[in-house]
Amino acid sequence: MRTKMIAGNWKMNHNRQTAKAFIEAMEEWFGKDAAGKSAASAVSSGKIEVVVAPPFTLMERVDAARKTDLIQLSAQNVYFERKGAFTGEISLPMLEEAGCKYVIIGHSERRHVFNESDEELKRKLIATLESRVLPIFCVGELLEERQAGKMEKVLKAQLDAAWASLTSDVVGEMLVVAYEPVWAIGTGQTASDSDAEDACDYIRTLAFDKFGTSACESLRILYGGSVKPENSKSLMQQPNIDGLLIGGASLEAETFKAIISKSF
Ligand code: PEP
Repeated sequence: MRTKMIAGNWKMNHNRQTAKAFIEAMEEWFGKDAAGKSAASAVSSGKIEVVVAPPFTLMERVDAARKTDLIQLSAQNVYFERKGAFTGEISLPMLEEAGCKYVIIGHSERRHVFNESDEELKRKLIATLESRVLPIFCVGELLEERQAGKMEKVLKAQLDAAWASLTSDVVGEMLVVAYEPVWAIGTGQTASDSDAEDACDYIRTLAFDKFGTSACESLRILYGGSVKPENSKSLMQQPNIDGLLIGGASLEAETFKAIISKSF
């Protein structure tokens, strides 16, 4: 059985005070409230993982505020070189030291605002798989690509470029793929359950074709794009959706809790 994942991508939001308050509110919920206790037991039994991805400057703050290991830490980005003259970049050893379990690679804002190429993302993915940090690798089509019937072509091209040299065991055991249609991110326009499921099913089929049954059955695939408490339950009921990558609705502990509660 694949462990479900609810991951909050804070992007460039929160400060030292609000980040600490968020983690404290989550941990209090896990310890006191009936719904929170049930979520904590789902996390402890491996049914679901809860992840937050703060900005780099808040990682230590979030790590220090955690009293339990119910919330895992993710980075939002990483550079593929391990050290050296790369001003402004953050390395995998730095993420390991900061307590990160995951790193988001290829988020649509990295691809489309910062023009990260397939080649660069492949290097980030390979470097991450050689570290102790696990990748959450994002793919997704633009609105015009969907309207032109090119969703599958885009997902295949993005994944083929990234996972060409990977092996089945690595894909099954370490990789998390997030399907995030660009037109749904931050727009309030969530993909329908069936559109999200079709895309995630397609990604699993690509994994089957390239890596075989075991990798395809173990691969975790998330959906992201305007997820909120009102649509999270039915998205999580889709057979090929193993979790959610959430931007805006992950910023408030109350909303994040509501999504978690509906997801296992
Ligand atoms: C995201 O940033 O990955 C995302 C899905 O954002 P939002 O939930 O705000 O659409």
